[in-house]
Amino acid sequence: KFEYAPAPESRSIVDLRSSYGLFVDGEFVEPKDGRMFKTVSPSSEEVLAEVAEAGPQDVDRAVAAARTAFKKTWGSMPGRDRAKYLYRIARIIQERGRELAVLESLDNGKPIREARDVDIPLVAAHFFYYAGWADKLEYAGFGADPKPHGVAGQVIPWNFPMLMLAWKIAPALAAGNTVVLKPAETTPLTALAFAEICQQADLPPGVVNIVTGAGATGQALVTHADVDKIAFTGSTDVGKAIARSVAGTKKRVTLELGGKAANIVFEDAPIDQAVEGIVNGIFFNQGHVCCAGSRLLVQESVYEEVLASLKRRMGTLNVGDPLDKNTDIGAINSPQQLAKIRMLSDVGEQEGAERWSAPCDLPERGYWFPPTIFTGVSQAHRIAREEIFGPVLSILTFRTPAEAIEKANNTPFGLSAGVWTEKGSRILWMADKLRAGVVWANTFNRFDPTSPFGGYKESGYGREGGRHGLEAYLAKH
Ligand code: NAD
Repeated sequence: KFEYAPAPESRSIVDLRSSYGLFVDGEFVEPKDGRMFKTVSPSSEEVLAEVAEAGPQDVDRAVAAARTAFKKTWGSMPGRDRAKYLYRIARIIQERGRELAVLESLDNGKPIREARDVDIPLVAAHFFYYAGWADKLEYAGFGADPKPHGVAGQVIPWNFPMLMLAWKIAPALAAGNTVVLKPAETTPLTALAFAEICQQADLPPGVVNIVTGAGATGQALVTHADVDKIAFTGSTDVGKAIARSVAGTKKRVTLELGGKAANIVFEDAPIDQAVEGIVNGIFFNQGHVCCAGSRLLVQESVYEEVLASLKRRMGTLNVGDPLDKNTDIGAINSPQQLAKIRMLSDVGEQEGAERWSAPCDLPERGYWFPPTIFTGVSQAHRIAREEIFGPVLSILTFRTPAEAIEKANNTPFGLSAGVWTEKGSRILWMADKLRAGVVWANTFNRFDPTSPFGGYKESGYGREGGRHGLEAYLAKH
């Protein structure tokens, strides 16, 4: 029913279908009311495939399949057998790594180098890591006989489509839950490839179900009465709406929301290394990163030096075709996101900050934004307060460590922060005072399946990754 389309030469490694159904109870099925939507390559505006839009009845069917699988197979399966499936999935992801990286780059717009070297290896690493936990849960201090919640409803964003899926699905399955996951509407393809991988791994039907669609599909999933546990990654507004909708129910919720991280450079930091960290902090993945270092705080004494070096480095960044291995910055994921980045950048200028973009030729088709910095930014400016979620950096200065802390913490968010200094004691002092779930020292945007990740304040609650990530999928006694 769902036909394979011959792939153009440039991406012949990808076996793309022209249309995809919903993945329910181990097979691809048509949506009840037949509604489909298109997923588009943000770098070429080419339609990549048609994807089913799940309505409430489809969500109902997927949740029922997950419930049955929980009762009949997965929920009572010994941990060592669950581990075997997770290891098998991890190995298939490695084997299909190149293809998945191309698919991710096509659908999301991110540089192939990042998809190939960061996203997909981390996806496999998460499945390997949580496979190792599946038969050791009783030793992790969760109580004598830790039990899964049951059916997990998971909703993810478009910035790291397959990695967010792995963060959600790997710990859920390791703990014995079954899953209904909704990928973001602009990036459904790697989640659908993951559905094929579940088939390939002979995962029992219904253990993983993928329902594609927009916000309404996500809403139908998180408000479904038979979902026990909700895991959401996305915007703070939707996170708050979800938190409100579960009030008074027995559902457990973890929320991973937005951020406005401070990347703090002290005068004693090795400046070249810090500039690499600033560039990685804000331009990695086009700045579509919840923990992006979007506010640079530089100590006044090195401000001119850092700024000059940063501009020089920005001039060397290649912006363009995501499938080119030399590309550093790819396409903005959607026209809506591009409009938001443009709007907030215009507001930055209107409010009096000074804008500078690296000179670069942007392709004609597709959605693009040049790497951009703002100087003369004050804490009251919207570009210093709101998440832009694009390649746009707001630069502020400070004199003392205490002032750096005050400015860094002056935000409703609290997801991450970075500190650049040679002084070990200062790193510890700063890490203690920063109200952020993750603090990087002399590095930025480093991820590892063994480390918990999550926010303070409006960046959400609960942790993903590590032992903490498992805890969210286990019921307390
Ligand atoms: P979004 O909240 O609009 O969408 C995220 C997902 O939620 C999508 O799948 C969307 O379809 C779905 N959704 C939309 N409305 C919904 C509703 N009412 N009920 C249920 N689901 C709904 O966010 P976005 O713009 O796609 O993603 C960007 C945001 O995600 C940024 O704010 C970013 O900081 C945040 N984010 C956070 C993390 C983290 O780990 N903290 C990671 C990545 C992205």
